Amino acid sequence: MAKPELSIEFFPPQTPEGAQKLRDTCRKLATLKPSFFSVTYGAGGSTRERTFATVREIAADGFEAAPHLSCIGSTRASIREILAEYAAAGIRRIVALRGDLPSGVGDPGEFRYANELVEFIRNETGDRFHLEVAAYPEWHPQAKSPKDDLLAFKRKADAGANSAITQYFYNFDAYAHFVESVRAMGVELPIVPGIMPIVSFSKLARFSDACGAELPRWMRKKFEAFGDDAESIRAFGLDVVTELCERLIAAGAPGLHFYSMNQAGLTTAICERLKLGC
Ligand code: FAD
Repeated sequence: MAKPELSIEFFPPQTPEGAQKLRDTCRKLATLKPSFFSVTYGAGGSTRERTFATVREIAADGFEAAPHLSCIGSTRASIREILAEYAAAGIRRIVALRGDLPSGVGDPGEFRYANELVEFIRNETGDRFHLEVAAYPEWHPQAKSPKDDLLAFKRKADAGANSAITQYFYNFDAYAHFVESVRAMGVELPIVPGIMPIVSFSKLARFSDACGAELPRWMRKKFEAFGDDAESIRAFGLDVVTELCERLIAAGAPGLHFYSMNQAGLTTAICERLKLGC
């Protein structure tokens, strides 16, 4: 069985201490030999400078760095400028997203959906960038219907996306069904599952509601029963996520993309158990 490629996601740190911590985390995680590290982009471009600075630093350390770029609320001119900066910095991969408008911002700007951003990047820069897009095995929360969401995904592929990274999920069947449905529409691009290690169950539960990821009842009940017992939460979370990864690898997932939350510990522990990257 081919080993899946690893990729690891960071968010841009807000403070010098956070930046130092991320440098240490990145060096630790580099031992897993990921294909790239990606860096998120704040709603409405709020982290434009910090995302760029983080990506530059990772690249200067000799690793492939992929900035996320969201288009909602942006103009074509501002996206063109960002693409030029990334091209000049030697960046070769971008995670292209619609994003969400920050609360209180009414103007959606010149792009409505991520497929328009993918098309724009291709028209402006040809094949310069490998483009990743987002996929939602449990459906995007604003999708009118599963079918509409699949068609929206196909439009991103047709516009020139090279591969996709999914929202995190804990239901293996949702991923398997999504991949099958996409293939049935003739879309062949690799769909890499996004993996969220479980640090704090209560925080994850709040966050999951907002982004449309389901925490299965059997897991929720068990985590709730652990109360404040952080050690049991960590141990059970590690078991659940490792088992999910094992099933995904056995089913032929082309890679695993870890939402590291800028921490090395759990991602490393899961990869060690899976004997990946080491
Ligand atoms: P789209 O693919 O445009 O889809 C958005 C919604 O619109 C879906 O419901 C889709 O069904 C619907 N839709 C698409 N086209 C049409 C159409 N023509 N008509 C009607 N409906 C349509 N957010 C950030 O702010 N920063 C990040 O760095 C970031 N990184 C992410 C990384 C990954 C791997 C993932 C999975 C998500 C990430 N997000 C990030 C969250 C993402 O921005 C949100 O989920 C956002 O709401 C949708 O972005 P999208 O690119 O998936 O949008």
